[in-house]
Amino acid sequence: MTAQIISGTEIRKAILGEIKEEVDQMKEKHGKVPGLVTILVGSSPASISYVTLKVKTAISLGFHEIQDDQPEDISEKDLLALIDKYNNDPDIHGILVQLPLPKHIDDKKVLNAINPDKDVDAFHPVNVGRLMIGGDEVKFLPCTPAGIQEMIVRSGTETSGAEVVVVGRSNIVGKPIAMMMAQKGVGANATVTIVHTRTKDLASHCKRADILVVAAGVPDLVKPEWIKPGATVIDVGVNRVGMNEQTGKAILKGDVDFDAAKEIAGKITPVPGGVGPMTIAMLMKNTLRSAKLSLGID
Ligand code: NAD
Repeated sequence: MTAQIISGTEIRKAILGEIKEEVDQMKEKHGKVPGLVTILVGSSPASISYVTLKVKTAISLGFHEIQDDQPEDISEKDLLALIDKYNNDPDIHGILVQLPLPKHIDDKKVLNAINPDKDVDAFHPVNVGRLMIGGDEVKFLPCTPAGIQEMIVRSGTETSGAEVVVVGRSNIVGKPIAMMMAQKGVGANATVTIVHTRTKDLASHCKRADILVVAAGVPDLVKPEWIKPGATVIDVGVNRVGMNEQTGKAILKGDVDFDAAKEIAGKITPVPGGVGPMTIAMLMKNTLRSAKLSLGID
């Protein structure tokens, strides 16, 4: 039997529709909309394209959006002062600094300067700590793990009591999604195992998973025989494996051998069109939440 494909593109569309509705209501009832600033330092083409997508999405939702482009040679002091300005701007609810930053700037110092209540990327240690504590402490969830959890929930996958295996232990995907799935709550209450490069028998762990989340960055790492029949497989990996000569675009592959895995899994995310499109939707959701919290309506 072929697995149900969990489409990130479709789920993102639904989430953005829900956000737009809430923004319209907020505007009508409170005369306010969520405010997002995107700070881009320098002109790396990849960063420009990421920022442009965020800006376009924010505008399409009716957000107040400021795109604040800064020259490559901006000093760390001036960048910190800029962040301070937005920390104190009541119309701004989310501050995004596009990474990577130029070498002369300490990105940790810059990210830590963002007011945790406006840190919609949820990378600030305060938000990482809140995630660890869970429950009402959590203001924002980091966007890629939040997107993964949303896909699991919206695909109707039962998480309570489920065996979840997370491949990868990075700060932006593996560790947070593992912690989120182990918490009490919707889309959680799971029994979680984290596996990584030093794990002795990766296959045996993966085979136990009712929900397998793979974020390793290794194309086709997960073999079809490692997948428990009927499992939900979330493939976070985005690997460039070549170039399409006709379109000039990169050929992308996940960490799971999709064509073979879809014959065994119950549900599976594709690459591209799976987890990737979710991240930006969750960023917008965090900005909306920040605005609601500032208005005392969440
Ligand atoms: P990372 O390199 O920081 O971490 C990878 C983790 O995988 C490490 O903890 C490592 O221990 C583990 N790992 C690597 N090779 C392994 C192996 N052979 N066996 C077991 N474990 C192994 O990467 P990351 O930032 O977490 O990203 C992982 C993948 O997800 C990348 O392909 C990245 O492009 C993708 N990604 C996608 C999105 C998105 O779609 N929105 C967001 C973030 C990351």
